[in-house]
Amino acid sequence: MALKLHFWGAAENVTGSLHHLITPGGHQVFLDCGLFQGRRQESFEKNTSFPLPAEKTDAVLLSHAHLDHSGNLPGLVRQGFSGKIYATPATCDLVKILLTDSAHLMKRDLEYVNKRRVSRGQEPLEPLYTADDVEKTLQFLVPVPYLTEFSLWDELKVTFYDAGHILGSAITEIKWRDPVSSEELILVFTGDLGRDHLPILKDPALLKAADYLISESTYGGRLHDSIEFVGEQLAELIRQTHQSRGKMIIPAFSVGRTQEILYEIAQLKAKNQIPEIPIYLDSPMAIEATQIFNHHLECFDEETMEQLKSGNNPLFPAGVYFLKTTDESKELNESDEPCIIISASGMCEGGRIVHHIANHCANPRNIILFVGFQGQNTLGRKILDGAEEVSIYGEDHPVRCRVEKILAFSAHADEQELISWLSHFDRKRLKTLFLVHGEPDAQELLMGSLTARGFNQVHIARQGETFKLT
Ligand SMILES: [Zn+2]
Repeated sequence: MALKLHFWGAAENVTGSLHHLITPGGHQVFLDCGLFQGRRQESFEKNTSFPLPAEKTDAVLLSHAHLDHSGNLPGLVRQGFSGKIYATPATCDLVKILLTDSAHLMKRDLEYVNKRRVSRGQEPLEPLYTADDVEKTLQFLVPVPYLTEFSLWDELKVTFYDAGHILGSAITEIKWRDPVSSEELILVFTGDLGRDHLPILKDPALLKAADYLISESTYGGRLHDSIEFVGEQLAELIRQTHQSRGKMIIPAFSVGRTQEILYEIAQLKAKNQIPEIPIYLDSPMAIEATQIFNHHLECFDEETMEQLKSGNNPLFPAGVYFLKTTDESKELNESDEPCIIISASGMCEGGRIVHHIANHCANPRNIILFVGFQGQNTLGRKILDGAEEVSIYGEDHPVRCRVEKILAFSAHADEQELISWLSHFDRKRLKTLFLVHGEPDAQELLMGSLTARGFNQVHIARQGETFKLT
């Protein structure tokens, strides 16, 4: 009698997080159900194949709302899943806006692709899921607060702990008691692990006991810049923008990065480190996400709570204007006043940020400030890599503005932070540390560093592998 762990997604890569747990009683649980992101055809095939028929899956334990962890839940529902999806209350709220947006983007992408296919006499492609599937998915969500143990079929006891990665992100602890030996087995899944001292969120909770651990490994072999100097860097760039009477354009993900930037701006304003300059948050989704943050004080760290108590909400700093309508957004193009514009998407692949870049990249007085990772072949990456000209909606635009970056905001633990967090576990009890959610090079480097520090039970999980947890 034993639990079985079957690795499926995010094995030797960083998308499509899905690990499959089978209980001795025959229940089937998924840890996450993320979207695999890659080339269209390959993605469709991977996202429509699950380790077992969707209707035979009993439950999903969802670590957090990022699409690479939650984004294929509607795909699972479309194929017949009707079990429960457990997640923290903040994750349940964020998942709603992220999945709705995901279905919307898929629809738009497919309309474009299918127009071309039909004109070539090819069959139109099916969507992975639709807005209706998202609606159904949301009905299966069961919010469970942090540190609140809940039971599944009297077989498993599950607790979510703060992961400090994004709002609502959880480390999942699963306990199972062997009815024969009455020994307890503990499996811990990090989800995506955050970092100490990130703005707003509590630091990742420290756990000590696990027989088996599934750990993310995204930043194996790499170290982040210190978060300590982010405020100073940002202040200097804002002062320069004000002085040159230019505009600063900040592409930022709607969930997480935008709120971190707002928080930093609030700190700079409180310390009078930046001049009076209007700041616009120009993204309906980011505005919605910021309101969700504001409803989940249980996720906030002490510093943020103290500011709230003193009447200063660092998510809504004075002098920051939230623009909802497209007319308000367009008005910014006509104004010559210096200002800061924060907008989405984070990699400049869609949304209002694309228009702001098109309208402002030719002016040397302006700054485009990158505050997050820019994927290959994205507009953001091209500008960050120094392109002298970019094509936006079929028109060429010279890039003559300044291009700056502050990349210390990463929401993932780097190698040192991962090792430090893992080092709290009782090494004598730990039988296997499985590495998931990392590129092979990063995983090899992390495994080497862990082994050098005395972790001699590390295994890089491969897709399709099954382990008996005894
Ligand atoms: Zn994540």
